[in-house]
Amino acid sequence: MRERELTRRELLELFGSAVALAPALACKAAPVSKDKPMSETTTNDAARMPVIFVGHGSPMNAVLDNAWSRGFAQLGDALAHTPKAILAVSAHWYVPGTFLTGNAQPKTIHDFGGFPRELYEIQYPARGHVDLAKRVSSLLSSRAASLREDWGYDHGTWQVLRHMRPQADLPVIQLSIDHRLPPAEHVAIGRALTPLRDEGVLIVGSGNIVHNLRHAIRGLSTGSTEIPPWAEAFDVHVQNALEQHDNDYLARALSDDTGRMAHPTPDHYYPLLYTAGAASRDDAVSFPIVGFDSSISMRSVRWG
Ligand code: ZN
Repeated sequence: MRERELTRRELLELFGSAVALAPALACKAAPVSKDKPMSETTTNDAARMPVIFVGHGSPMNAVLDNAWSRGFAQLGDALAHTPKAILAVSAHWYVPGTFLTGNAQPKTIHDFGGFPRELYEIQYPARGHVDLAKRVSSLLSSRAASLREDWGYDHGTWQVLRHMRPQADLPVIQLSIDHRLPPAEHVAIGRALTPLRDEGVLIVGSGNIVHNLRHAIRGLSTGSTEIPPWAEAFDVHVQNALEQHDNDYLARALSDDTGRMAHPTPDHYYPLLYTAGAASRDDAVSFPIVGFDSSISMRSVRWG
């Protein structure tokens, strides 16, 4: 949606093919940690689900075998317990309202343009979970979150889940991002979702911590592998805030020049606020994937 508005078809083609041809652009990709946080080894909270934010980057990561797609797979492999269901908050369902997918069998949405045919043929056939959607709606009762059947799994969700849970055997619902709300409200909605973690629901946010698409495409078109200082600075500021559980910082992070450069539009940043909100102060914070693809931060975050 947003990317289609921002770029011309040719630029998206370039974005896709450049990533496919240039694995070296996936610079600074760190090995994925297989360490389990201490909290999951105790018996008291053994069933409590962690919360995960994933930097999804180019839609091509759905089909490429690269540091990012392998990282998505590791995020799934590292779970100590199989979730009962997944609640996804994707940057690509960015609409005026808070909605939940209420379909028994959500469709796979190919919400991009100019990519190779194989990307349009991908289906992520996970079933929906209407009762869970109603449960989430009740948790968000003061916000009038309603169920809709005209959405499904957009690429922010399926390009990650097809690596993270390739079996597609867990029910998945999506929660939209109401673009009219101020940042702190997205944190508050995330906080309201916290009880789901004890009900076996894995909350997954999908966006990018630095996402200036025009800049990223320009970098790819020139072959530059340099990470701009503003991108690195914003990524580090957010990392520090996450480590401190400083959600107030996260909510105001886009209000200065660096923040506005990192996110000319906030759609790819807001999923982070939902996941940070759903986390607790006593959750261990780790970064299973770090690095940049052009100027896009691919950092992923795990709480708990
Ligand atoms: Zn995206």
